[in-house]
Formats: sequence, structure tokens, C-alpha cells
Amino acid sequence: MDTKHTVLEKYFGYTSFLPYQEEIVDAVIAGRDVLAVMATGGGKSLCYQLPALVFGGLTVVVSPLIALMKDQVDALRANGIPAATINSSLGLGERRIIERVILEGRIRILYISPERAVQPSFLSLLSQADVRLIAIDEAHCISMWGHNFRPEYRRLRALKERFPAAPVIALTATAIPAVQDDIAVQLALKEPARFVGSFNRKNLTYRVVPKARYFPRLVAYLSEHRDDAGIVYCFSQKATEDLAEKLHNKGFLALPYHAGLPDAVRAEHQEAFSHGDAAIICATVAFGMGIDKPDVRFVIHTDLPKDIESYYQETGRAGRDGEASDCILFYSRGDYGTIRYLIEKEGGDATQKDVAYRKAGAMLDYCETAGCRRKFLLDYFGETYPEEPCGGCDRCEAPVKVFDGTEVASAVIACIRQVGERFGASYIADILTGSKSARIRENGHETLPAYDSGRYTRDQWLLFIQELVGKGFVTSTGGRYPVLVLNERSRAVLAGDLVVPLTEPRPEGVVAPEAD
Ligand code: ADP
Ligand code: ZN
Repeated sequence: MDTKHTVLEKYFGYTSFLPYQEEIVDAVIAGRDVLAVMATGGGKSLCYQLPALVFGGLTVVVSPLIALMKDQVDALRANGIPAATINSSLGLGERRIIERVILEGRIRILYISPERAVQPSFLSLLSQADVRLIAIDEAHCISMWGHNFRPEYRRLRALKERFPAAPVIALTATAIPAVQDDIAVQLALKEPARFVGSFNRKNLTYRVVPKARYFPRLVAYLSEHRDDAGIVYCFSQKATEDLAEKLHNKGFLALPYHAGLPDAVRAEHQEAFSHGDAAIICATVAFGMGIDKPDVRFVIHTDLPKDIESYYQETGRAGRDGEASDCILFYSRGDYGTIRYLIEKEGGDATQKDVAYRKAGAMLDYCETAGCRRKFLLDYFGETYPEEPCGGCDRCEAPVKVFDGTEVASAVIACIRQVGERFGASYIADILTGSKSARIRENGHETLPAYDSGRYTRDQWLLFIQELVGKGFVTSTGGRYPVLVLNERSRAVLAGDLVVPLTEPRPEGVVAPEAD
């Protein structure tokens, strides 16, 4: 039998392991169930492919993406490893052949979709084969707390029940601890060995820039990076086309990419970006699944992503080659409305919506945080990052100044109380700035003492409110239409018992969210 080191060199052509790969491979070979959480590009595939070769017999890999399965199978075969996939694109004749080859023990690694994995006819086929290992790729799909829930994943524990002697390795790049726990429970993993790699992408720099009138700023950035290639993500298909055209008119080689383009055009644009001379691809989030261009120098978002997981994954496509790369997000609080619309449109039960709203809320917090962006991202994924300048985010480059914001806090809290704790941040900011809106007049709120408290712009008040909520000086009810209410600390501020440190407003151009 080949040892792991010979297999590594002979079949994969590598001389050493990437971080965690060896530990994971060892645990699998020892017959343990494993939960492996590694960033995209961390080398997850090898963690089951190598044991598959050491074990002999058959390794079954469950994966949700047919296109990726095909790529993997091709790559394995090119390395002389007998691999196959059974999917709906095969004709009956082809399928029978593959099934026979499996029964003859001549396939080492078999890729299948989660739907097929639990079909009785497929399970009985497997029962006649020599199943030695089960790998569940994109395992976060099993969890409602993940960002890509697929109900059919819930049935995969049937594999474990059918083949109790074969270890199960679950792999994912999504690391929120609740998802990890859920994966282990749902798959009924037996005392799994857990490996969680670092999610820090040291070569990426994170920035958040106000979205108002962003186009000239985008052009300025791209002009300074003429020799670089990158992705600009837009929310809608139409926006990708409009932006590509506007950039084209400014002399940039930009192409649109989205699911509504004819297959041939899409393939051509992807090819032009991956290997040709198109420097910029204006894409919806459909772009990127399976893209493997190592030298993407920037990933820019012109619209707010729906959650941190998506943002991390999309920005993760920058700098795969390890060279310094930029992640820029043009942020407007108004984009939250679009996300709300999407969440409602998506339907789902109350729990699913609640999860979606909480995730969207965390995305806003990322944009509005006064602290290090990298630390925020890593904290979100349950990884501790030290309190120190990270050297790669706008916050650490220009740290915010803190002032005694007790008066500001008192003004906000008094206003919330005067309107009966029934309104959200935008409305409170409107009152504080003395807006002439019809809604305020209808409610008779232009006569409140808090009306037109002066001194700050609406954007600044919004930032203060956000910070007060974040620091627990007022409470936001959350949900679809969050309402601001007082808590013990709010009352302590009004009573003069608490001092409130707040972030000093910045000059234009750094973070202030525009009005929504
Ligand atoms: P993931 O599935 O975690 O995103 P992949 O399995 O696709 O990652 O691997 C990412 C890249 O790393 C691939 O190009 C792969 O060939 C490469 N790779 C994997 N293991 C090693 C290794 N031990 N040494 C060098 N490169 C590796
Ligand atoms: Zn930082």
C-alpha cells in the first residue's frame, strides 16, 4: 500500500502539505470522522482524495455543483486516478457502464449530488461496492445557519447509517461556529476531529467607501490600476451591463457577466477575463463559482452583499496568488432596503427570515464599525484576532478619534423617548436634523423639544445612533422594521450617571453612510 507521502508526490505532484492537510489526512486514515473548515483555496480536496488512494476501495464524494464535479473528475483522471461522476446529464447506457465499473472495484473516487446520494437504488448499488470513505463537500449546506441551505443535505446521514464502518469527512469554507456544530449533529459524526484553519487573508486590504456618487471614485481607482485585473460586483444584471458600458466608454476593457447572458457570451467573457485581455469583469454574484484566476488584484462591490459569508467568499477571489490585493465596498445604508426586499421575496419561514435579517444586520455592522475590518470579519467566523493595527484595512490606516459624546447620546435618547419608542433610526435622525418631512408633520413631531437639535448632519446622527446601539446605550428591536427603544443604560445616561465615548465624526469621504 502506498504511504501518504508517496501518494502526495506520485499522484498530486506536491512535495509538502498545506497547513492542516496532513493532520486531516492522518485523522481520516486513522478511521476518524472529521470536520474540516478551511478557507477557499486552502486545499480541501486533497484531504479526501489522498486518503481515498491510501484506502483503496471506493470513496464517495457528495458535492452540490455538477460543473465542479466534472472539473474535479477530469483533473483526477489527468493524474491517473480512476474517478467518475454519475449525474443527470448521463444517458442510461453510460450510467450502466459506470455502475458496472464501480461494482468491479475499478473506480476509486465517485462524485455524486446529494439528491442521488440518498436514492434507494443508488444506496443499494453502493452496498455491493467496497465503500471505504464518505466525503461531504460544501457541508455548510446542511445548516439553516449557513448561507446556502439545501434541504436535501439533511438526508445525508443515511450514508453514515448505511456504511457505519466508513469514516465521514465533512468539508466547508464557512466557519461560523453554529454552522460547525450543526454539521456535526446533522451528519451524526462520531466524536469528529475538528480542524479549523485560519480565515485571515493577509494579502487582502479591506476598505469601505461611501456609495454616493461613486462612479468617479471607481474610475479614479481603476485609472491608478490600469495594469491590474479585477471583479466589480453589482446587484442586478442590468447594473453589470450599464457599468461595463460606462467603463468601456472611459477606455477600460470591461465586460459584463451574469446568468441572463447567452451561454456562449458568458463563456467568452469568462475566458476573456481568465486568460484574455479583459481586465475588468462587471458581474453579479453568479460569477466566481469555479473561477480560478490567481491574479485578481481587486474585488469591488458597488452594492451591499447580503451577508458576511457572501462578502468573505466574493472578496476571497482576490489575491489567490498571495500578492497584495484590494477589497473595496461602496456602502450605502439605503441598500439595506434592497436586501429586505430580497429576504421577503425569498419567502421561507419565520426562522429563516430571522436568520437572514440577522446576517444582513451583521453586514451593516461591518460597514459601520469603527474598529478594524479584518478583526470584525475574523471575529464573525469565530477566530480571535489581536487588538492591533492589521496593516490592511482603512480603519487601521486612519484610526478613529473618540470624544465625550454624552451630550449627543442624551439628545438621541431623549428623542427616542419623546416619540414613544416607536420609530427607527432614520426617523430619529430626521427629527434631530429638523426635517420637513410629511411624516413628521402628520405625527405632530415638529414641536418636540428634540426637533432640530442642530450641530450634526443626518448622516452623522445616523452613525452616532448606530454606535450607540452597538455599544448598548440604546436597543434596536431588530427584525424587518427595527425600532429604537430605551434600556437601563439609556436611562442612566439621561440621569447623568454614565459617560458615553463616541467616535468623532470624520471629514467627508471616509465612511459616513448617505441618507436612506
Ligand atoms: P479548496 O477546495 O479548499 O478551495 P482546492 O482543493 O481547490 O481548495 O485547492 C486549492 C489549490 O491548492 C489548488 O490549486 C490545489 O492544486 C492546490 N494544492 C492543494 N494541495 C496542495 C499542496 N499540498 N501543495 C501545493 N498546492 C496544493
Ligand atoms: Zn485593520
